[in-house]
Amino acid sequence: MKSNKEYKQCVKCVMDTTDPDITFNNFNVCNYCIEAEANIVHFKFTKEEEKQNIEKLKIDILRDQKGKYDCVVGLSGGVDSSYVAYLAKEMGLNPLCVHFDNGWNSELAVSNIKKIVDKCGFDLETYVIDWPEFKDLQRSFFKAGVVDIEMLSDHAIMATMFSLRKKHNIKYILSGSNYVTEHGMPLSWLWRKQDLTNIKGIQKKFGTKKIKNFPTMNSVQYQISRLFGLGGVYIELLNNINYSKEGAMKVLEKEFGWQYYGGKHYESVFTKFYQAYYLPEKFGFDKRKVHLSAQIRNEEISKEDALIELEKPFYSGIELKNDLEYVLKKLSFTNEEFEKIMKDEPKSHLDYPSDEWIFKLWRKGRAILKK
Ligand SMILES: [Zn+2]
Repeated sequence: MKSNKEYKQCVKCVMDTTDPDITFNNFNVCNYCIEAEANIVHFKFTKEEEKQNIEKLKIDILRDQKGKYDCVVGLSGGVDSSYVAYLAKEMGLNPLCVHFDNGWNSELAVSNIKKIVDKCGFDLETYVIDWPEFKDLQRSFFKAGVVDIEMLSDHAIMATMFSLRKKHNIKYILSGSNYVTEHGMPLSWLWRKQDLTNIKGIQKKFGTKKIKNFPTMNSVQYQISRLFGLGGVYIELLNNINYSKEGAMKVLEKEFGWQYYGGKHYESVFTKFYQAYYLPEKFGFDKRKVHLSAQIRNEEISKEDALIELEKPFYSGIELKNDLEYVLKKLSFTNEEFEKIMKDEPKSHLDYPSDEWIFKLWRKGRAILKK
C-alpha cells in the first residue's frame, strides 16, 4: 500500500519505506539487513563443507530410492530451478523433472527447459493447467484487488508436486528455494501460498466457475503432512552450497546454452506483467528492490549498481503496451474494466475468508512445544 510516511531508504541496501512494515536502527540499517547479517553466515561454506553437504544428501537420496526416480525437481526454467537440475546431474541423480504450464510460459522458458532435460537425459512431465478454470481464478483475484495473484500458481505447483511425488513413490523433492537470493521479502507484499480457504473465498465471490481441476491442498493437510513427513522430504539444495545468482547463470549459459530473461521470475509473461506493472502501479511495490537487496547482502553487487538497475524502467519502449494488450486479451478484460481494477483501493487477503487462524494456532502450538 502506498504509505504516507516520510520516505527513507536503508543505508546498506535499497529497501525503503514503500514497505509499510520496514524498521530501521539508529544507524539507518533496515530490519532485513540486520536479520540477514545474523543468518547469511549459515549459508556460507568452505569448498570442503560444500562437498560434504552434497555427498551426504546424495547418499540419503539414493538410499531411499524405491522406483525409477530418486527425486522430483520442479523446473520453471528460471535460474534457481535450472541450477538445481544442473546439480542433480552433477550428483548423479535421476530426478523426475516437473514443469508446470499455467498458460503463461514464455517461449524462452520452454526452450531453456528443453535444453536442460535433453542434455541431462532427464524425464520431463509437464502438468498443463485447466486454462478456462485458471483464467477464471486469475480474473477473480484481479477483481478482488489483492496483492498476491501469483499465489494461485504457487499453490497449484505445491499441490502438483505433492501428488506426483506420491504417484511415483518418491521421497525427496529438490527445491530451488534458497536463502541468499530470496530472503527479505516483506510480508505485506505477498500472501501465504497454502491458504486454500482464501482462494476458494475469492473465487466464490468473484468467479464464474467452480474449482474442479485446479490442483489444491488445504492448510491442515499441508501442516500435517509436513509434521509427519507424509508430504515427502523437501531439500532446499541451494542452501547447502555457496549459491550466487550470477555464478549460477554463468554455469547454465556455459553448460546448456541457457538464456537469461532480464529479471527474476520473468520466465513467465504473466509474472513479468505482475511484478513490473500490477504491483508497482497499484501497490507501489517494486520486487526488484528485494532481489537486488538480497544480492547486495550476498556481496554479488554494490548498492550503486543496484540503484542504477532501479533507475531502469520496468519495460522498455513498446514492450509494456504489447504485454498489457496481450494480458488483457488473454484474461478477457476490457480496457475500462482493467483501468478500474488498477484504480480501485487495494484490498487485503484478510478482507476475504482465510485460514489465517490455523496458522496462528499452529505458530502458538509450536512456540509452546519449543518451550
Ligand atoms: Zn537494508
